[in-house]
Amino acid sequence: MNEKKIPCPYCKELIDQNAQQCPFCNEHFTEIDIPVKVESLGKFIAFNIITLGLFQYLWLIFNLKNINKMIVKEKDKFKLNIPIILLAIVGFISCINIISYKLYFATSLKALLVSANIMSPMWILSIILTFIISYRIIRIIERYTKNKYDKEISHSDNGLFFSTILFMLVLSPMFYLTYFIYTYKERVYNPKPIEV
Ligand SMILES: [Zn+2]
Repeated sequence: MNEKKIPCPYCKELIDQNAQQCPFCNEHFTEIDIPVKVESLGKFIAFNIITLGLFQYLWLIFNLKNINKMIVKEKDKFKLNIPIILLAIVGFISCINIISYKLYFATSLKALLVSANIMSPMWILSIILTFIISYRIIRIIERYTKNKYDKEISHSDNGLFFSTILFMLVLSPMFYLTYFIYTYKERVYNPKPIEV
């Protein structure tokens, strides 16, 4: 895969996103980085499809410590971790439902309808929580960048909202967040607001 190109913050020529110095104007760059990484968006979606959407939550659990490290405002800790705890509870209840559904299904076909009724609000709730968590992490990254590098970066609320719905179809409602992280350096270096 080719190295992604970003505009040099000084001369605007397209340069390697990992360049330490611009080959055109010779300016040196401070290493702008965040402690969370997304290597490939394609792989992220593929892993979610294979694991029926579980992969993104595993990704979240593995990165939670580093995400918490980026928190500048103490309040953000609650705003992030409360929906995560709620999501864990929703996940736990859903698992119990699936297990009891399977046990019940062994004795009754009606269980299919019962289970569908119990599962769908849980499913909708988990999507809403995923949306909130994605938004909270994006805000944390934006504040972290402002605080550490004095750079304003932006995200699109519409992009976040619609891609949550759209990527739900490929079991990846957390896609926008990973896209945001994947394009992080581009967002930092590009002075004009990015629309998506
Ligand atoms: Zn340059």
